[in-house]
Amino acid sequence: MPKLAVLGQPISHSRSPAMHNAALAELGLGDEWSYEAIEVAPDHFAARIRAMPREGFVGANVTVPHKLAALALSDMASEPARAIGAANTLSFASGRVAAENTDATGFLDALPEPPEGGRALVLGAGGSARAVVWALVTHGTSVAIWNRTPARADGLAREFGARAAKANRPDGLLRTADIDLIVNATTVGMGASTQEEDPDPRSLPIDADALGETHQLVDLAYGAVETELVRAAKARGARVVDGLEVLVRQGAASLRIWTGLDPPIEAMRLAARGST
Ligand code: NDP
Repeated sequence: MPKLAVLGQPISHSRSPAMHNAALAELGLGDEWSYEAIEVAPDHFAARIRAMPREGFVGANVTVPHKLAALALSDMASEPARAIGAANTLSFASGRVAAENTDATGFLDALPEPPEGGRALVLGAGGSARAVVWALVTHGTSVAIWNRTPARADGLAREFGARAAKANRPDGLLRTADIDLIVNATTVGMGASTQEEDPDPRSLPIDADALGETHQLVDLAYGAVETELVRAAKARGARVVDGLEVLVRQGAASLRIWTGLDPPIEAMRLAARGST
């Protein structure tokens, strides 16, 4: 019985078990394979991972706060995982731990159109922004990065060959007329899922009224209700991808690594959105 899991802290709200178990059932593997959520504290993470192959696990997703530790403890890592500096997917075979980062490929797979030659504005400079910026830059996109703490945007831009975005409107916001793709990789909007107090959407330097049909917006934040940014962008005719679609696509990429099979995207989408 091959076993899979997602490890994080907290993890009880994760949609990955529902999404992956629906996919395994759709693939006809539901009676053999399983996917569970495992809550683990940072101090116990490495030991927990090392014990998993003996317990029948063939792979695992890793989420906050363990993505850096997952890469650090791996025996081999893909080029994206090494460049991004974090892993969200581990595979166990022959006593070795292999690390991959499917946040980057999942993000690319979710885009409404290929990013090559486009101009992107990435909001945020944390872990998910690293995966997004790496994915875009390696696919020939011109990337500007804005972050609440500007020094982190400067550092990320230097590291990956992007540029830091500075307020360029008289009202202190960022011009979006010459941008094709806007990605929210900040935690603004996450209150939609956690029920916690959400930072004010106006803390992002974007004028929703300036968005339109020429824009694509990806908001990594997701939850039970649409984020303010997603709502505003849709209302103005922008092509919008929400965080659940990105979650589905990164999960699909992980499942392909573990099973070697084409993942059933629609079944995963329905389960992630709680429609099954
Ligand atoms: P990090 O903690 O690594 O980074 C958080 C980022 O948000 C930083 O850039 C931080 O800026 C910024 N930020 C925090 N509060 C505010 C605020 N009030 N105003 C403006 N900026 C703010 O988080 P992650 O990169 O891991 O995650 C970011 C978001 O992406 C989360 O909502 C997460 O759930 C989501 N996510 C979704 C995924 C998906 O599959 N859909 C995958 C991964 C993440 P500063 O540097 O100034 O602190």
